[in-house]
Amino acid sequence: AAKDAGRGRFRLFSEDLHVAARERNQLEEELRSAIDKGDLELHYQPVVHAGNETLAGFEALLRWKHPKHGWISPEKFVPVAEDAGLIPVIGEWALKRACADLARWPEAVRCAVNVSPLQFADPGLPGSISAALTKYGVEPSRLELEITESVFLSEEGGTEATFAALKKIGVRLALDDFGTGYSSLGYLKNAPFDKIKIDQGFVRGATMPGSRNGAIIAAISSLAEALGMDTTAEGVETMDELELVRMHGCSHIQGYIYSKPLSPAEANRLLEAGLAMQPTGPRAAREPR
Ligand code: C2E
Ligand code: MG
Ligand code: MG
Ligand code: MG
Repeated sequence: AAKDAGRGRFRLFSEDLHVAARERNQLEEELRSAIDKGDLELHYQPVVHAGNETLAGFEALLRWKHPKHGWISPEKFVPVAEDAGLIPVIGEWALKRACADLARWPEAVRCAVNVSPLQFADPGLPGSISAALTKYGVEPSRLELEITESVFLSEEGGTEATFAALKKIGVRLALDDFGTGYSSLGYLKNAPFDKIKIDQGFVRGATMPGSRNGAIIAAISSLAEALGMDTTAEGVETMDELELVRMHGCSHIQGYIYSKPLSPAEANRLLEAGLAMQPTGPRAAREPR
């Protein structure tokens, strides 16, 4: 009977896989047409200087407005785009879109764009970035590329040459989601990052009694500072979290405490009001202890 139950479970499992594969194929089809129809957008989440609470810039985050299902998260469609070979097209579009918007924003404002490891493995990446910067007349140091540690795991190679070419262009490089992957210190020693983004997993729960997250945030910040790098604390939602990451020396703050990702029109309105930022998120009021 145990064997039968085992077999039953296997059949169920393979049916699930089949459904998942069909859903994925459909998503892939729809994503292809979304690119053609212009249903992808970049939204911009403010990144704030911890020292004086002014706007440092934005992180560009992909949004897909699906005709039937509404907004679809990049957590869901970026992996599909990577598998389907659509990332070069989407990634190139995102870089150009961000450069076009940067050109309209004040000089002091930067923009970070997420770059997939698959884009990073393409030797043509530096050339297309420098073409986009030139086309829109954007100072290279205003563009920051966010890369996760997984670029170091790919067998495609070309990483070192790509880093060198990007540094030569003068764009900034940020190591995204630090602490969630292998977090080898060798990456920090050998790759020319300008910033470490501390994953929101460390911020979440850091204010709980007995949490070790604060010590980790402090250690990453001081290591970064010693190496001449900035740090952004990601996913800061509450006043207590904000206070904690400032106390532990993070140079930049990103999270709902200041703002959710904004549509391009909302980002323009924010800029028209000046660069001063205030904690006004849904949880900005201090929580009872
Ligand atoms: P990420 O680069 O680590 O981006 C940060 C994510 O945290 C964003 O999710 C953002 O909306 C969310 N976030 C920011 N502040 C808070 C907060 O206070 N609380 C909480 N709970 N979440 C917060 P989003 O926009 O869903 O993007 C998810 C991931 O999708 C990104 O993670 C990035 O890895 C990927 N992605 C987004 N846009 C692109 C893109 O243009 N290209 C590539 N290759 N990947 C992208
Ligand atoms: Mg990012
Ligand atoms: Mg991140
Ligand atoms: Mg992430």
